[in-house]
Amino acid sequence: MKAAVMRAINSPLVVEDVSEPELGYNDVLVQTKSCGICGTDLHIMDGTGYKPSLPHIMGHEPAGIVAKLGSGVTKFKVGDRVVPNIFFTCGECFFCRTNRETMCLNFKGALGVGINGGYAEYFKAPTKNLFLLPPNIRFEEGSIIADAVVTSVHAVRRRAQVKADDNVVIIGIGGVGQSEMQIAKHAGAKVIGIARRVQRVQVGQRFGADYIIDSSREKVAEKIRELTNGFGADIVIDNVGLEETFLQALAAVHRGGRIVMVGESEDTIPLSTFQICVNELDVLGSRSGGREDTVEAIKLVENGVVTPYVSDTFPLEKINEAFDAIKQGKVMGRAVIKIP
Ligand SMILES: [Zn+2]
Ligand SMILES: [Zn+2]
Repeated sequence: MKAAVMRAINSPLVVEDVSEPELGYNDVLVQTKSCGICGTDLHIMDGTGYKPSLPHIMGHEPAGIVAKLGSGVTKFKVGDRVVPNIFFTCGECFFCRTNRETMCLNFKGALGVGINGGYAEYFKAPTKNLFLLPPNIRFEEGSIIADAVVTSVHAVRRRAQVKADDNVVIIGIGGVGQSEMQIAKHAGAKVIGIARRVQRVQVGQRFGADYIIDSSREKVAEKIRELTNGFGADIVIDNVGLEETFLQALAAVHRGGRIVMVGESEDTIPLSTFQICVNELDVLGSRSGGREDTVEAIKLVENGVVTPYVSDTFPLEKINEAFDAIKQGKVMGRAVIKIP
């Protein structure tokens, strides 16, 4: 099969022929139809993110068609349209049993991150990690469920617990932020997005935000006070995860408020125990989402609550051009690889 292979850090992926994944008893082989490109991939490529053993096939936002079944698989048939939950877990440890699968103690790896993923004509996944993709969802939008939408469901519903009338600030309105805005609006919250580029500000308005702050031109903290009657935000979700954005979150949230960290980086954050205690701040981490989040994410897209925004499509052969476009800030929604 054809795959885009990462052979070394800081060098382009190599599109070449490799052998198809071999199936275990409970594995399913999926023919990739589409695979979203996530910012995490750029970090893996430049060596600042997760470090898979090389050579490696990235791609953690795929969707496709069941092509072959392991001998123990009865839940699917060849031809089923599917989308994966990308966390391959044990299903038995404390965290798996208490619906916090992404904390699995015996974690086997994430599809496309530690395990070969969707930048290939085929990928494999255990049966329990695959979910049927409803017929009204195209593969392009469907693939985005696997990471961006699932991450948003987990962040907005489970971790931030956004409810009606909350003032919610969302920092970074790329693929994940766009879904979060739609889910938070659906919950009845007032949503303020923060973007750094004018084009993103315009795009952000499509997803129902009450206001999008252009952080390159507006004073973020002041504007948030103004938009929340001087009170500040109940909840801030930071999809960027830099020191700079954390400081924005800290300035935006009111006493007793909640900051949910979704974006990851190597930055450390300047926060004193004093600030946490006297302001009774909740600072929470949020990591992707489990299978229950995937079921919810599929429903939200099926019912039109979340419309993933596919702004750019590329064939597998042009995957390096896709990465360049993202780096240059040209991609306004999600870029996806489409495989015929
Ligand atoms: Zn991702
Ligand atoms: Zn586990």
